[in-house]
Amino acid sequence: MALTSSYIGGQDVPSTDTYPNIDPATGRSLGDVTLGSADEVDRAVACAAATQRAWVRTTPEERSDLLTAWAGLVERDAEQLAHLESQDTGKPLSQARADAAVAARYLRFYAHAIDAYYGITIPKGPDLHAYTVREPFGVVGAIIAWNYPMQLFSRSVAAAVATGNASMVKPADETPRTAVALARLSVEAGLPAGLVNVVTGTGEQTGAALTAHPDVAHLSFVGSTEVGSVIAHAAAARVVPTVLELGGKSAQVVFADADLAAAAEAVARGALQNGGQTCSAGSRLIVHTSVQDQLLDLVAERFRTTSIGPGAEDLDLGPLVSSTQLARVEGFMDDLAGGELVTGGGRPSGEHLRAGSYFEPTLIRGVDSQGRIAQEEIFGPVVTSMAFEDEEEAVALANATAYGLLGAVWTRDLSRGHRMAGALRAGQVFVNNYGAGGGVELPFGGWGRSGYGREKGFEALNSFTQTKTVVVKL
Ligand code: NAD
Repeated sequence: MALTSSYIGGQDVPSTDTYPNIDPATGRSLGDVTLGSADEVDRAVACAAATQRAWVRTTPEERSDLLTAWAGLVERDAEQLAHLESQDTGKPLSQARADAAVAARYLRFYAHAIDAYYGITIPKGPDLHAYTVREPFGVVGAIIAWNYPMQLFSRSVAAAVATGNASMVKPADETPRTAVALARLSVEAGLPAGLVNVVTGTGEQTGAALTAHPDVAHLSFVGSTEVGSVIAHAAAARVVPTVLELGGKSAQVVFADADLAAAAEAVARGALQNGGQTCSAGSRLIVHTSVQDQLLDLVAERFRTTSIGPGAEDLDLGPLVSSTQLARVEGFMDDLAGGELVTGGGRPSGEHLRAGSYFEPTLIRGVDSQGRIAQEEIFGPVVTSMAFEDEEEAVALANATAYGLLGAVWTRDLSRGHRMAGALRAGQVFVNNYGAGGGVELPFGGWGRSGYGREKGFEALNSFTQTKTVVVKL
């Protein structure tokens, strides 16, 4: 089986220090992965810094052309990339194919966006010419999660290099292969070797070395709130800015006048997509008492007819990413916070599923909003529900966690939809839809324990640059 090595300066950098990449569908190894050391991180950062000094002098047009060429290669290799992603994560193949398409779309979006990214002039009278320019940080680090590896890689790296930075990526321990493949394609597309580097390994060793490196001038992190806080502390010690894209416990608020079939479909899809291992999953269902039975019946029916199996079989639901994640989800079932189990709640039956990290789609009705299951991110195909009587109570329940990533409102009353959008404490709010099919163009990020800073959309260009103000005496 092939070894997955770090990719530095356009070269594979193998090592004898490795760990196995476990297939979550079978529990068997897909091959070994290089456990990147602090020396490798140091070498990669030095290489990135040298490359960035020339890269920052390229024109936006040149960068745009190269990012576009890179997007074309990602599209060319999409099928191969999707297979790697599906094996590493366990996600059904068609979802991995969609992820490859979105990864290419990020490259194209920032290729276009950089051509239209301007500073401003500031009126200071006839004797002074004042203007701003947006300048890159230099070498930026990206430490990413395992749930959407290609998308997370691409959304961070595309905006970073478009604005003139060089990137150093530490993919998640469980899902290293597509990051290396994407970095390799950047060189084939003509981006300079050394601009996009990947050091594989664990968070404690490789991630910590990247975070602490004195020449990494900006950090973007996608992962858990706990590790995000560790990273923010380390960055603060070096006075380095960070974007933290952390967990969520997002609410789907369904009013009595909503299109219940559409709401139920979005709730079920959110729980099933990627096995519910999505930061923005609408995992808390907050429903008006008068339509509670009807809505829960619709969601439960969808859950009971879910097909489950390995990612390669491309069914509705694959395994969770690892046995560790499975144990974590199972742990939540010990205390349902007064809720009633409507469907699911454990591992699916079936001999062929026994070795994998599978968990049934699970719906729990009527949980206490303060219970652990209603407060903490589960990161599995689990939806908890709560009922409300009026709009005020709906807002209070929706805002009753320390997270604030997304929220959705389902109602035919658009005035209420706008009112609720204003009242929800979240970085994105959707009315009568959920997620807008990926939303490459939509600024994304959290409030509270969901993090700070924004990626995606035009705003990411601001995240990866700093403003310089220039004043010239005429
Ligand atoms: P995690 O925090 O365990 O790991 C994330 C990354 O951090 C991995 O690459 C890991 O190796 C690295 N890491 C771990 N310890 C580190 C350390 N001490 N120093 C430096 N790096 C370290 O998260 P996960 O389990 O991989 O991902 C799941 C979490 O990610 C969930 O909470 C989910 O909500 C969140 N997430 C958020 C977004 C978003 O955009 N807000 C997107 C996807 C996932």
